[in-house]
Amino acid sequence: MSKKKVRVRFAPSPTGPLHMGGVRTALFNYLFAKQHGGDFILRIEDTDSARFVHGAEEYITETFNWCGIKFDEGVGIGGKHAPYRQSERKSIYLKYAEQLIESSNAYYAFDTAEELDAARKQYEEEGKTFIYNSSLRSRMKTSLTLPDNEVRQLLDKTGNWVIRFKMPENELVKITDIIRGELVVNTNTLDDKVLWKKADELPTYHLANIVDDHLMEITHVIRGEEWLPSLPLHALLYRAFGWDDTRPEFAHLSLLLKPDGKGKLSKRDGDRLGFPVYPLEWKSPETSEVSRGYREDGYFPEAFLNLLALLGWNPGTEQELFTMDELIKLFDLNRVVKSGARFNPNKAKWFNQQYLKQKNNEELAKLYQPVLKEKGIEKDNNYVAKVCGMIKERVVFINDFWGLSSYFFAAPDSYDEKTVKKYWKEETSTRMQELVAILQGVNDFSKEDTEHAVRDWISRNEYPMGHVMNAFRLSIVGTSTGPSMFEIIEMIGKDETINRINKAIGSILF
Ligand code: GLU
Repeated sequence: MSKKKVRVRFAPSPTGPLHMGGVRTALFNYLFAKQHGGDFILRIEDTDSARFVHGAEEYITETFNWCGIKFDEGVGIGGKHAPYRQSERKSIYLKYAEQLIESSNAYYAFDTAEELDAARKQYEEEGKTFIYNSSLRSRMKTSLTLPDNEVRQLLDKTGNWVIRFKMPENELVKITDIIRGELVVNTNTLDDKVLWKKADELPTYHLANIVDDHLMEITHVIRGEEWLPSLPLHALLYRAFGWDDTRPEFAHLSLLLKPDGKGKLSKRDGDRLGFPVYPLEWKSPETSEVSRGYREDGYFPEAFLNLLALLGWNPGTEQELFTMDELIKLFDLNRVVKSGARFNPNKAKWFNQQYLKQKNNEELAKLYQPVLKEKGIEKDNNYVAKVCGMIKERVVFINDFWGLSSYFFAAPDSYDEKTVKKYWKEETSTRMQELVAILQGVNDFSKEDTEHAVRDWISRNEYPMGHVMNAFRLSIVGTSTGPSMFEIIEMIGKDETINRINKAIGSILF
């Protein structure tokens, strides 16, 4: 590894909501930077105005705020290479494209869309694959084929010329990827990519990306596998600029796969199988369609990052739960797998459950309080913390709390029909009235005392335990589930207990 200070970047294009795979790319960059005491940079690659989506950049910023991933330099932070938004760096790129023309590594191309179409058609008729490179360029209108004075005229007069990279002919490009090893590609399979366009005076992704990585002193490019086909071109661009000495190292991360392992994880898989593929909820500005997010689904950011860390990387041990510090210490690009990482939505939930269980009851109470407030319930933290302690083994999200604990805060507003049918018999109302009398007589409403009194009453009368207790539970909880009845009534207190039994007697008619 080079001795230079490690500098990596996350370089999203604001073309829509960031996919969870993008967050994983950012996380791996972050871990790598922090492990090496390096810098992590946020660069926004917004030179493709046709694909620009309103709100996408804000979404990126909000995602990393939520996750707690901090950048050292970049959009919204600043730094010695500012600006970090490519649209604000517009004036930088043309001179680099021209530098490549001077060194005969690029040329001006003047073909119109119609001329390109005609060439494509001709290729098809001849049964050849259309590829704009050495085989074609000699036939097109370019600064390589036209006399200088005509080139100058066209540059002045026409508004839509482009600068293309002059792909070398029949050369083997060899380049090493940290994850994939050596790649060898013949340049005859690559095309003369457009680098800069007069029409909008903007560079394309390839030029802007290489120039900025160079100027920003990036040492390692860690990005998604979809950019692997561009790697030979990028290597050739570094060479053409004479920047081989400072060229960054590359690592291309494999795709996140659908739960069945067949193909790339998409938004549609999430919709179909009921899980988010975006970190935050996203409302499309065009269609107003809302896509769910991990944050809104109730995931803790730590759990989200932990599950992402293990998609494609593993520490070589059985450990699955990691603090951020542990991840920074253990992360290793050499342990990132080449094959796609299959996403398992149940495992994602498992991670959240583990993080939830790690929180103490007071922390959980603080997270539960806003849900209760929304329902108009005011209870002190001690009470709420006790409730959390009683149900925390059975929940995955804070959003699950209410469904499992509403009876600690309010009387049931309905009674489970099946349970009613099974346990509420002709004699039940009378028995419940007796139970009220028994409970009235218990002064200290501790679970021990109420349990003792109720059991004593049941056995004295030789009542069937199951029926009586289930009817009791139905009156208090509304269903046949939940923790020990005596624990519940100790929590809600004597008056509330008696009110609820009376309410049930009044509403459940045999
Ligand atoms: N702007 C590219 C993207 O949207 C970045 C690719 C790279 O990291 O080089 O993914």
